[in-house]
Amino acid sequence: MLKTFSIKHGRDFSTELAKARQVAEFAICTHSRTSKDVKHIGLPSAIANQVLRKYGRNRTIKVVRHVQLTVPGQGVRYEQEKKELYISCLKLRLDVSHLPDFEKVNQVEVDKEYAHVTVTVNEPPPHTVERWIGIDLNSTGHIAVVGNPSIGKVQKYGKEAPHIHRKYSKMRRHLYLHGHPRVAKKKIKRKENNKIKDINHKISRAIVDEAAQQGCGIKMEKLSDIRTTAATSKSSRPSLHSWSFSQLQTMIEYKAKLLGLPVAFVDPAFTSQQCSRCGLLGTRNGKDFMCSCGHVDHADANASFNIALRPSLEESDGRSHQDRDWCKGRIDAPQEATS
Ligand SMILES: [Zn+2]
Repeated sequence: MLKTFSIKHGRDFSTELAKARQVAEFAICTHSRTSKDVKHIGLPSAIANQVLRKYGRNRTIKVVRHVQLTVPGQGVRYEQEKKELYISCLKLRLDVSHLPDFEKVNQVEVDKEYAHVTVTVNEPPPHTVERWIGIDLNSTGHIAVVGNPSIGKVQKYGKEAPHIHRKYSKMRRHLYLHGHPRVAKKKIKRKENNKIKDINHKISRAIVDEAAQQGCGIKMEKLSDIRTTAATSKSSRPSLHSWSFSQLQTMIEYKAKLLGLPVAFVDPAFTSQQCSRCGLLGTRNGKDFMCSCGHVDHADANASFNIALRPSLEESDGRSHQDRDWCKGRIDAPQEATS
């Protein structure tokens, strides 16, 4: 598995970055592929080649935005005793003692402040588990509700999300009113995205640690494209649909894999309408769920139990949700303590 770590390098590479920009502009104009053509600029050829490859090949790039100094893996030496990387063409040393064990360095991208080190991390084989936790992702209330039906435990994460959306839409509105529409659009969006990413990192860490502690695998809904389109569609009213659920799922997946915890995806149909105790369809009113069998629960908790109990998409390979018994009632599925 590839993982990228950002390490502050504490050096001034503004000269090299300016040269790389020159090479990139040259590549866009001429589509040159060989570093001989840009020798006069004076960028180390290992880096120049990467820049030429990126900007020369891709004919859709017209403007150079964030240029980086990309060093391929061959240009990076790992000094095991010192736990350091040495990039000879930039005479740069990086302390990597805090990184997990890795097989090899794939590349290092250096910008103004950071060196982004991409390594191949050894992935442990997934454990076999008998129990699963289910993660219900929501655009109202808590971002993630995690349920373990085998012990009846429910945990909620990401309460601060609606607050963040309010905060940033307020900032956007303020800047619009004061005549900075471009700043509002770009800068605030970037800030908000960073904040979302940060929260997603924290939520995914907490969920994966909890799953490891409970000795469970992780089940999540296979996200439909509808949510993805909703996130990109232009809406004057910012909503929580722009929360990056797929980013959160990706983070959960790779953090779990690094610990050897299995991750599975389930069909998302009716996870919030079905009763996790009897399998029939109940009624939902806001965050309250009620079933004719007498089961009453928090709607998201009920959904998370359904996700945990549902067969993964691989197990149920290809059968559509209409065929499955969990629409008509769960007859042969385990009836574990769900209250
Ligand atoms: Zn029921």
